[in-house]
Amino acid sequence: MTQRPQPGNGDLYDVVIVGGGAAGLSAALTLGRARRSVVVIDGGEPRNAPAAHMHGFLSREGLPPGQLLEMGRQEVARYGVQVIAGRARSAARDGAGPDRTESEGGFAVELETGWTVGARRLLVTTGITDELPAIPGLRQRWGRDVLHCPYCHGWEVRDQPIGVLGISPMSVHQALLFRQWTDRLIYLPHIGPHPDPEQAEQLAARGIRVVPGEVTGVEVDDDRLSGVRLRSGESIPLQALVLAPLAVPRAEVLDSLGLEATEHPMGVGAYITADKTGLTSVPGVWAAGNLTDPSANVLASAAAGATAAAAINADLVAEDTRRAVEAGRDRLSAEV
Ligand SMILES: Cc1cc2nc3c(=O)[nH]c(=O)nc-3n(C[C@H](O)[C@H](O)[C@H](O)COP(=O)(O)OP(=O)(O)OC[C@H]3O[C@@H](n4cnc5c(N)ncnc54)[C@H](O)[C@@H]3O)c2cc1C
Repeated sequence: MTQRPQPGNGDLYDVVIVGGGAAGLSAALTLGRARRSVVVIDGGEPRNAPAAHMHGFLSREGLPPGQLLEMGRQEVARYGVQVIAGRARSAARDGAGPDRTESEGGFAVELETGWTVGARRLLVTTGITDELPAIPGLRQRWGRDVLHCPYCHGWEVRDQPIGVLGISPMSVHQALLFRQWTDRLIYLPHIGPHPDPEQAEQLAARGIRVVPGEVTGVEVDDDRLSGVRLRSGESIPLQALVLAPLAVPRAEVLDSLGLEATEHPMGVGAYITADKTGLTSVPGVWAAGNLTDPSANVLASAAAGATAAAAINADLVAEDTRRAVEAGRDRLSAEV
């Protein structure tokens, strides 16, 4: 393992990880403990940053999201992993010589500062951006009382009056899910299609009122959501608003390697396709976390990072072994 006091321009690592959220840091922990030289480049904007607390992570229930990552950075540092605060702009294949297999070509990762770091393998865990509908005031409430995930926030808004905004093919399903947490639920088709007859029957059967009309704003009282306003001028009192944002992969580094995102079949945005270890269609490049699965929570993202890390280490072990065998044969043939 190569240990460096500080990361520097032009350094070469076994693995460069772009993105230091749950997936990236979890991978870094596994790779650091596997005695790999690792640098994590992290822009410091995890998807759940707007939320005050993180839920559903066994043993870390209710922890502020930033605290989990701070603990993670301290843990990976114990194994020599370096973390650079900053953004990677692009990556390019580098050093794919005739003595290397396709997956063994290295990568040069360019940072926004103009620095370049070299990697034998690349793991991209840059996550997604949630694209919200253009309703004034919505973004400011995101992760507070404008929500998407019942498992993340449902408990906190249980029994409250909740509206579900119909902006996605998944919105009726989302309403039926949130019904588990409250019976004071309103479905707002907004500018999307009205529920079809089967959906309307399901909503009615579960006591979910459908209120038609375009939502033109949110109402806030004492820094809490108090309702939404319809174009008709009518106010609908609510304490939380639920919607299914579009997942937009933060994939500029993968784009630069020619790897394009795939539209999600459920119409919830896009994602990067990879095998179950996170290996993408570009040899030597892995991806994990929300980038490959927009529905993954923090625990699942961390698990995907650890899985990718083990696969990367195995790939490097295979390369190291192949090279050792070749070197041994070269020595033998030089002796005869
Ligand atoms: C409002 C909200 C609340 C949530 N609450 C919960 C919850 O309570 N429990 C739960 O389990 N899940 C929750 N989630 C889901 C959770 O956010 C994700 O599961 C998790 O963040 C995915 O981890 P990740 O490592 O894939 O991506 P992220 O956590 O998004 O981390 C990606 C990192 O990569 C960095 N990055 C991006 N581009 C670059 C670049 N070019 N160069 C360098 N760095 C880059 C980003 O700055 C970021 O730090 C919530 C999501 C939202 C939107």
